[in-house]
Amino acid sequence: MTESARLNPQAPVGRTIDTMKPDYDLCVIGGGAAGLVVAAGGAGLGAKVVLVEQNRLGGDCLYYGCVPSKALLKAASVFHQQHDRALFGLPPLNGRPPLDGPPGAGSRPEKAVASIPAAMQRVQEVIRGIEPHDSPERFRALGVEVVQARGRFTDPRTFEADGRQLRARRFVLATGSRPALPPIPGLDSVPYLTNETIFSLAEEVASLTVIGAGPIGCELAQAFARLGTRVTLIGREPRLLAREDADAAEVVRASLASDGVQFELGATPTAVSGEAGRIRLEFTRAGDGSAGSIESSHLLIAAGRKVTVDGLGLAEAGVEVVDGRIVNDDRLRTTNPDIYVAGDAAGRQMFTHVAEHHAGVVLRNALFHLPARAESRVVPWCTFTDPELARVGISEAEAKAARLDFESYRFDFAELDRARTDRETEGFARIITDRKGRLLGATIVGPHAGEAIAEYALAMAKKMKAADISGVIHVYPTFAQINRRVADQRLKATLTPTIKRWMRWLFGLRGPQ
Ligand SMILES: Cc1cc2nc3c(=O)[nH]c(=O)nc-3n(C[C@H](O)[C@H](O)[C@H](O)COP(=O)(O)OP(=O)(O)OC[C@H]3O[C@@H](n4cnc5c(N)ncnc54)[C@H](O)[C@@H]3O)c2cc1C
Repeated sequence: MTESARLNPQAPVGRTIDTMKPDYDLCVIGGGAAGLVVAAGGAGLGAKVVLVEQNRLGGDCLYYGCVPSKALLKAASVFHQQHDRALFGLPPLNGRPPLDGPPGAGSRPEKAVASIPAAMQRVQEVIRGIEPHDSPERFRALGVEVVQARGRFTDPRTFEADGRQLRARRFVLATGSRPALPPIPGLDSVPYLTNETIFSLAEEVASLTVIGAGPIGCELAQAFARLGTRVTLIGREPRLLAREDADAAEVVRASLASDGVQFELGATPTAVSGEAGRIRLEFTRAGDGSAGSIESSHLLIAAGRKVTVDGLGLAEAGVEVVDGRIVNDDRLRTTNPDIYVAGDAAGRQMFTHVAEHHAGVVLRNALFHLPARAESRVVPWCTFTDPELARVGISEAEAKAARLDFESYRFDFAELDRARTDRETEGFARIITDRKGRLLGATIVGPHAGEAIAEYALAMAKKMKAADISGVIHVYPTFAQINRRVADQRLKATLTPTIKRWMRWLFGLRGPQ
């Protein structure tokens, strides 16, 4: 049966079959980014809301995801910049070489080592600073009833938590995702880290093997390498960030390599053994079938995410799960029309900003019967390595694979004055347009790419053309100028010799042919 058939598109949005009057308008399960926004938004709109969370409110983003990873990357970046003093014509710190080696233009001194526990303490301080925003007190003050307990459905209309039977007109599954553990023999017999444990490390990390060359693996590999850990990144695909265009991912790989990250790409782990402080990972290389091994003091698993479905009583609730994914449609309805899903639990793009977007979609559908749909065309994201890699819409590789009639334009940061003043010339921006110049996608790999991509997200959302970006004045000298300069490439390309000849003739221009 197809997903749409299962979901019965004829069913009116938000239909309720229950005859018993429910206690709440909305029962939200999970207090991460998605659940918190649904709960606060629902209460703000006048609904009676109960929010069930098994741990602390705040979820992955605050405790194990975006916030700690960005705080750690910032510490690593500040530490790393010490290497660059000589490159900016600056004297060494305290009149001595900043790190263990002689600085010289173009040459990097030996790596210094930061204290991982101290860096993690700062990460935890950042979390504590944000925590009050997501506290139960704040949500209670907003009018949300907060139940701190693990819960499960006992039937299609009842969620049991803390010994209570919670009945609501609509339920929202916002239970997030967990790190996926690859089936490597021996993994369960060695200590390993995931994003749920790494940010509270209270010990030094001499060497780290990172399994997984996606965004999380790349960000953490770079952060630890810059803090002085010997890092090896192992990934199954032949290159990192396999979802992105190869040339964009290569800019990130080269940067990680210059930070000292070693790579085993196109390699499949076959066994793990050892003990705390001495962990051995064996693998096979896909290319030549050869075997290899890495020994390191720590092992990090960053091999993807799996939706949280276990222990929720989804079968009892009539919510179908296929291959670990909660079946849902564009309105984020599950196979039980009174149960919605939002955030990572929806199994779509797993980002905090997507979770927040889902919250709005669910509120409109569940409370007001307005048929809102989850956006899938204009969803920006960013991998926060240095340089950052950000994207919205389709990549060049995807456009080719889909055999679209498209045009592609690229502009390099090396040609941007601000990139030269700041010595951040690696990377480029690329836009994909249709033949009429309408924007289909943008990739930016370079400094502040995550900020710059917002302009292309807006342009795509408003169905603009490349010429619309060309026509906007951008502040000089900013990194954001890359957006206009790449759009200008299309303008230049459309000035064919024939058009130029016509213009010369029409306006009496006398420049060279
Ligand atoms: C290392 C890392 C870095 C990341 N960086 C970024 C980034 O820079 N930008 C970005 O946009 N995204 C980033 N993400 C992704 C982002 O963290 C997630 O997309 C986001 O947190 C999802 O929010 P959510 O509400 O769907 O789920 P979660 O935040 O996981 O919340 C789900 C909640 O449900 C609770 N729960 C589960 N089951 C039950 C139950 N039975 N009863 C009660 N409660 C339950 C859980 O305890 C949890 O608190 C990152 C993720 C990781 C792992």
